[in-house]
Amino acid sequence: MKSCRATGRSRLQVYFNYGTIPFWSMHVAALLGVIWCGFSWSGVMLAAGMYYARMLLLSAGYHRYFSHRTYKTSRAFQLVLAVLGQTCTQKDALWWAANHRWHHRHSDGPEDLHSPRAGGFWWSHLGWFLDGRWKTTDLAAAADLARYPELRWLNRPSMQLMPAYVAAALLFILGGLPGFVWGALVSTVVLWHGTFTINSISHLYGYRRFQTRDDSRNNPWLTLVTLGEGLHNNHHYSPGSANFGRRWFELDVTYQLLRLWEALGLIWDLRRV
Ligand SMILES: [Zn+2]
Ligand SMILES: [Zn+2]
Repeated sequence: MKSCRATGRSRLQVYFNYGTIPFWSMHVAALLGVIWCGFSWSGVMLAAGMYYARMLLLSAGYHRYFSHRTYKTSRAFQLVLAVLGQTCTQKDALWWAANHRWHHRHSDGPEDLHSPRAGGFWWSHLGWFLDGRWKTTDLAAAADLARYPELRWLNRPSMQLMPAYVAAALLFILGGLPGFVWGALVSTVVLWHGTFTINSISHLYGYRRFQTRDDSRNNPWLTLVTLGEGLHNNHHYSPGSANFGRRWFELDVTYQLLRLWEALGLIWDLRRV
């Protein structure tokens, strides 16, 4: 079996070990939950709502604010973005931003944490974090954020999943078991893979508007799933810009939300191309 570049372990060992049980269990639980509760359009609508609301939080908060600082905001709204973003179960803002900044520094080079060049599609999609090598947070890479004690508090292992647990409990209280299954389980699993496509598909398939030194690509159809993030080549070319679209067909819903937040006075100094 071809071994994984990063650790020397076989791919089967990377994807399936004790540490990856929670990740795969969520997939099984979501599937069993849907079978148990039965299909319903109201469930699908709830899952889609929770998916897109949280994709916006990842895109506008974790990515464009914490990772790239493409706008400024108050310390209070920064905390709101951090706490709500943590309901996505993709760890906290410090971890996410530190790893993402590393990706931009080493895009598709030997040091990149999730390049398809290193281990193919599945490595870039989910192998890199199942591997466990990137579990800890490089606080030096996010020193501008780590100076806030409230963000460091959210970075603690005991806090990593807390916002997601609270959201799941609320969904159960308000919507019963179907609310929990569709709103928490199904939506979260789909949100994972929606996010992961940026590391896998967006570095493999699509067109390149700019000749960047990496393999980043644009996928207008993927922007519908990721609310603008699929314009990944545009983003790699100018990572400091809040708007990712360059042409009319390159839809960037997240940027429209940021414009709304700007108009409402929640954020300011929005950096545009
Ligand atoms: Zn990238
Ligand atoms: Zn980025």
